[in-house]
Amino acid sequence: MVIIGSGFGGLFAAQALRKAPVDVTIIAKTGYHLFQPLLYQVATGILSEGEIAPATREILRKQANALVLLGEVTDIDLAGRTVTSSVLGRTTLHPYDELIVAAGAGQSYFGNDRFAEFAPGMKSIDDALELRGRIFGAFELAELAEDQAEIDRLLTFVVVGAGPTGVEMAGQIAELARRTLRRDFRRIDPTTARVVLLDAAPYVLPSFGEKLGGRARRQLNQTGVEVQLGAMVTDVDADGIEIKEADGQVRRINAATKIWAAGVQASPLARLLGEQSGAEVDRAGRVAVLPDLSLPGHPEVQVVGDMMSLDKLPGVAQVAIQGGRYAADQIKRRIAGKAPREPFKYSDKGSMATISRFHAVVDLGKLKFEGFIAWLMWLALHLFYIVGFKSRITTVLHWLVSFMGRGRSQRVATQQQVYGRLALEHLGPDFEASKTGGPKTSPVDEDITGRESA
Ligand SMILES: Cc1cc2nc3c(=O)[nH]c(=O)nc-3n(C[C@H](O)[C@H](O)[C@H](O)COP(=O)(O)OP(=O)(O)OC[C@H]3O[C@@H](n4cnc5c(N)ncnc54)[C@H](O)[C@@H]3O)c2cc1C
Repeated sequence: MVIIGSGFGGLFAAQALRKAPVDVTIIAKTGYHLFQPLLYQVATGILSEGEIAPATREILRKQANALVLLGEVTDIDLAGRTVTSSVLGRTTLHPYDELIVAAGAGQSYFGNDRFAEFAPGMKSIDDALELRGRIFGAFELAELAEDQAEIDRLLTFVVVGAGPTGVEMAGQIAELARRTLRRDFRRIDPTTARVVLLDAAPYVLPSFGEKLGGRARRQLNQTGVEVQLGAMVTDVDADGIEIKEADGQVRRINAATKIWAAGVQASPLARLLGEQSGAEVDRAGRVAVLPDLSLPGHPEVQVVGDMMSLDKLPGVAQVAIQGGRYAADQIKRRIAGKAPREPFKYSDKGSMATISRFHAVVDLGKLKFEGFIAWLMWLALHLFYIVGFKSRITTVLHWLVSFMGRGRSQRVATQQQVYGRLALEHLGPDFEASKTGGPKTSPVDEDITGRESA
C-alpha cells in the first residue's frame, strides 16, 4: 500500500500499520515529519528546525514493513491504481492496492498570489527560516538606518490573520522585541517596535468563541501587540500593506516585515482526486470524502487530514491523526476479512493557543482555561506530540532559555534563507532546468527584492 505525505495524517497511518501484513510505501516531498504548530518558534528564534522536523526514516527505522521514499507526487491514476512521484527529474511509478492520501494544505492568499512575494506564509521550514531572517534582519537594518521614517518602517511588523498561528506569531515577535532584544542594540530601541495583528473578522481566535477570544485580545495588548479587526488587506508591497476598513476607508501601514497567516488551500492532489472520482471540491480545494474517508467508487482510496472535507471538520492536527489511524484500521480490517468500521467519528480534544510567555488559552468545549494553567497545558501537550526523545530534551532546554531567561538559542539567519525563495522564483524555468542540468532559457534582469534593477 502507498501513503502520500509524512505529516500528521500520513505518519500516524503508517505507524498504525506497524504490525499489519502489508508493505507500506510512504512518499513525501520532504524527508521529515513537520510539527507545524511550532513553526512560529523556529521563525522567532526559539527552536531549531531539526527539533520540529525529525527525519521520517529515523522515526520509522524500526518498522520493517515501511519503505520511506522522497518524491513529489505529480499524478494519481485511480483507474490504473498508480501514483507517480518525481524528484530531481527522476520519475517513479508506484502501483498500489490501497492508497491513503494525506498531502495536507498550503498557504492561500485568496486569489492575491502576488502578496506572497512580500508577505511570506507560515507553512514550511523554508517559510519559518525566511521569516526568521526577515524579522532579525529588520532590527539589524534599523540599527544602520539614519532616517526616522525608515527606522519606523523597519521596526513595524504586520501579521495578517488572527487565528492561532497569527496570534502566536504576533505574541512572539512582541516578546522578542521587548524582552530578548531589549539590550542588544545601541542606536535603536527594540522595545519601540510596532507589532500589528490584522484580521478582516471582528474577533481574535474566532474558533475559540467570543469570551476566550476577548481575553486573548486583552493579553495580546498587554504583550505589546496592536490588534486591528475588521481590517481587510487590499494590497501588499515591499514597503507596506494597504487596508480597507469596514466603513470602506483605505489606509496604509508602512512595514518592512509582513507575515501571512490568513488562509489555507488544500494540496492540488485533492482536485485531481475530485476530477477522477466525481467527488466535490470546495473553495479551499478540499475533496469531499464519504463518511468512511474513502472516495466515491474507490473504497481502496482514503483521503485524510487537511485536504479532505467531511462534516465541516477543522484543519487541525487531531483530525489528521485520527483520520490516519482510522484509514489504517479500515485497511487492516479489509485484509483480515472483517466488516468495515462505523463511519469516521472525530473526537474533539479541544484547541489551544499561546499568546505570550506563561499565557495561553485552552478551549476544551465546556471547560475553558486561560493564563498560566492554560500555558502549562499547552507546554505539556506540545512536548507530548513532539516526536523523538532527543527533540524533547533539546526543546525543553531551548524553552528554558527563552521562557525562564531572556535568550533565544536560534538566531542564525543566512542570506540564502532570506532571499532563496524569491531568487528561485525569479529564476523560474531556469531553476527547474538547473536542477536536472538542462539548458537555461532566459536571462535574469530583475532585482529579487521586487524593485527594479538599477
Ligand atoms: C503554522 C501552523 C500552526 C498550526 N498550529 C496548529 C495547532 O496549534 N493545533 C492543531 O491542531 N493544528 C495546527 N495546525 C494545523 C495542523 O498542522 C494540520 O492540520 C496538520 O498538519 C494536517 O495534517 P496533514 O497530514 O493533513 O498534512 P501535513 O501535516 O501538512 O502533511 C502533509 C504532508 O504531505 C507532503 N506533501 C504535500 N504535497 C505532496 C506531494 N504532492 N507529494 C508528496 N508529498 C506531499 C508534505 O511534505 C507533508 O509531509 C497548524 C498549522 C500551521 C501551518
